[in-house]
Amino acid sequence: MPLLLDGRKIQSGRIKHLTKITEGVSRPPTLAIIQVGARADSTLYIEQKKKFAKKIGAKVVVFRYGAAVSEEEITKKIHELNADPDIHGIIPQLPFTKHLDVFTITESITREKDTDGLTASNIKLCLENNPQGIIPATTKGIIVLLDYYSIPITGKHVVIIGRSTLVGKPTALAFINRNATVTICHRETKNLIDVISTADVLISAAGQPGLITKEHVRAGQIVVDVGITAREIEGKRILSGDVDFPNVSKVVTAITPVPGGVGPMTVLSLFENLFDAYKK
Ligand code: NAD
Repeated sequence: MPLLLDGRKIQSGRIKHLTKITEGVSRPPTLAIIQVGARADSTLYIEQKKKFAKKIGAKVVVFRYGAAVSEEEITKKIHELNADPDIHGIIPQLPFTKHLDVFTITESITREKDTDGLTASNIKLCLENNPQGIIPATTKGIIVLLDYYSIPITGKHVVIIGRSTLVGKPTALAFINRNATVTICHRETKNLIDVISTADVLISAAGQPGLITKEHVRAGQIVVDVGITAREIEGKRILSGDVDFPNVSKVVTAITPVPGGVGPMTVLSLFENLFDAYKK
């Protein structure tokens, strides 16, 4: 059996530490979430954040807008939240509806409250490997997960599938900052299978169930499955990663499950970013 990289275990181990910070405080760390439309997956992710916040004595306030909301209305709300001393972090629950320019909206969040690390100034700090930079939650969660299990990063070849602004690109940057050699793959990458075979650490963030099969991997590799796709199978809602877990796990050295791997690490890291802002 491979080493199971258990995000739930790490998350529950950190709860005590976070709870200590909120014990007896009259103004708890508070995260504002902006939701546009009523996507079921976004609502589910918000519920997960609320549930975790409750466990650690933090607060989540959700501002919900109809799908037709204007950019001005959202940025006006963000400016109010920027000025509110009881709000310590602001995140847009992406994706938003297509007519909205996500970059304009995220740029209106003040750097210190940019819990998701999406603003240009945070990205610049991360480019400079400045510890003041807020690392996006999923990226931070992956690094914390590997560190927890003492998986070496320096000098390793890390192959990342996915080049999104939210996951692929910041993750590539974080691994470069940790002295890994990084390859980013995407839909146009030729010979994906050959590239993957050269990885010490494979990170899949494509959102394509079954993309990584046992034919793609070899013994000795570490596999981190970021993908989450919700599917209805025989009337039940099933969450799938990108990796064919039952077969890939027979081959590789360490692997994350879905659910229970990167997902809980993302939630944990988001609140750790919030708590850092709160302490400051
Ligand atoms: P995205 O759709 O913006 O990006 C997907 C990327 O994968 C793209 O760059 C695309 O080129 C690449 N890709 C897709 N199919 C591919 C293929 N067949 N071969 C090679 N590359 C391929 O998605 P995203 O926002 O980056 O999220 C990716 C996945 O991670 C989704 O399933 C999302 O739900 C999940 N996610 C999970 C967490 C978590 O906490 N576990 C957090 C964020 C996102």
